[in-house]
Amino acid sequence: MDCIFCKIIRGEVPCRKVCETAHALVFMDIAGDVDGHMLAVPKKHCKNLLDCDEESLHGLMDTVKQVSHQCIERGYDGVNLLHASGESAGQSVPHFHIHIIPRKEGDGIDAWPKFGGAKFEIDRIWKDLTE
Ligand code: 5GP
Ligand code: ZN
Repeated sequence: MDCIFCKIIRGEVPCRKVCETAHALVFMDIAGDVDGHMLAVPKKHCKNLLDCDEESLHGLMDTVKQVSHQCIERGYDGVNLLHASGESAGQSVPHFHIHIIPRKEGDGIDAWPKFGGAKFEIDRIWKDLTE
């Protein structure tokens, strides 16, 4: 399959491997945008959260937790997890991935989006989401 992350998983494209488990691989993101930027991907190809099978999803999240603990053991204080399912959400690579950003107190990293303020009354959106 002509998928860059599948190629990385198969070893056809090199990566800086952080952790490999039965169901997932974690490697350094090459963006160079923030220190410690990692990507966690399921080994079995799926586009995103919406079409991921349960076994892959659980395996991926277990691996994300393992790497998060690894960060703490190596002197970090926390992690941010970022994920986009779908182009409208900002997904650019169509193989499920979770961004892991290790954090230290006072590191100055702004990993939380600056939302522009809600456009609609909260109850209207609540009804759209639930009724
Ligand atoms: P998205 O925008 O889909 O949430 O994130 C895709 C991420 O994949 C980006 O942060 C981008 O830097 C990363 N990426 C794209 N191609 C490669 C690659 O060949 N190797 C690695 N390590 N990361 C990649
Ligand atoms: Zn893939």
